[in-house]
Amino acid sequence: MKLSEILGAATKPLFSCEFFPPKTDKGEENLWNCLRELQTINPAYASVTYGAGGTTQDRTKGIVTRIKDETGLSAVAHLTCVGASRDQLADLLADYRAAGIQNILALRGDAPEGMDHFQATEGGFSHATDLIAFLREQGDFSIACATYPEGHPESKGGVADDIRYLKMKQDNGADCAITQYFFDNEAFFRFRDSCDKAGITMPIIPGIMPIGNFDQIVRFSSMCGTSIPAWLHEKMDPVREDLDAVAKLGIELAASQCRELLEQGAPGLHFYTLNKSAATIAIHGKISDYL
Ligand SMILES: Cc1cc2nc3c(=O)[nH]c(=O)nc-3n(C[C@H](O)[C@H](O)[C@H](O)COP(=O)(O)OP(=O)(O)OC[C@H]3O[C@@H](n4cnc5c(N)ncnc54)[C@H](O)[C@@H]3O)c2cc1C
Repeated sequence: MKLSEILGAATKPLFSCEFFPPKTDKGEENLWNCLRELQTINPAYASVTYGAGGTTQDRTKGIVTRIKDETGLSAVAHLTCVGASRDQLADLLADYRAAGIQNILALRGDAPEGMDHFQATEGGFSHATDLIAFLREQGDFSIACATYPEGHPESKGGVADDIRYLKMKQDNGADCAITQYFFDNEAFFRFRDSCDKAGITMPIIPGIMPIGNFDQIVRFSSMCGTSIPAWLHEKMDPVREDLDAVAKLGIELAASQCRELLEQGAPGLHFYTLNKSAATIAIHGKISDYL
């Protein structure tokens, strides 16, 4: 089913789950177990990332197609501009169309390893806004895009830039936006209010990252522009060496974050599962009254 139809028909907030294509057979087996476990809580759709530098093109395609064919879940394929010309992207989209994949999360992507900044491939695209316009020309895909409530690290004009480009993504054909993960709900609410004022009417779905390893989250957040509020340090620092305690606290904090987001009208939640089911299922159990 198309994302636009799923979101349009929703009578209550939806939740979705994001996976990455594993590199090994064991990882692949783990992914299918994880998907089966998450199916028990009925996500609205499952999305599959597209590895940095386009490195997982075939694996992303294979997994998205298998999700659609074998689980009955609606599937969303992430797609980036990295390392691909218009013609190569058109070929890939033709494959998706033939496989019955109807949903694309359109991204610019990051610089491939060894490069310090993103550079468009010859004959390719420089920004997600261009990829979205191209996707709209290419046929009847439902299109999701990414957005950054605390600002994309490269946005020289801060969050205001991201809002301007998000409006452009909507105008070029995006049906919804999924955010970078964040822990500061106030930042999301401010961002959402500014998006409203800018005429952005498509659903903006908060991305939720359950914390399983605080050190990793701190490292990754510094790269992707997510702030770690002082209150989160205060709660996590005393237990950060004890991964079981971190995971338990991570579930409590994510559930409370999700509850507040849903009480304040978030249209859904997108869980970054990292191919693990336990945290998402536990959080879902604590907020199921809202979903
Ligand atoms: C929900 C989600 C899923 C993701 N999935 C993946 C994935 O599967 N694979 C992967 O490699 N990465 C993924 N990413 C990371 C993403 O690729 C990076 O954050 C990347 O740096 C930016 O991608 P974008 O689509 O947001 O780019 P853009 O929207 O193109 O933005 C990149 C920068 O350019 C600026 N900009 C945007 N449009 C224009 C314009 N028209 N003119 C001038 N400047 C502009 C923006 O302000 C920003 O600073 C994901 C991110 C999110 C939030």
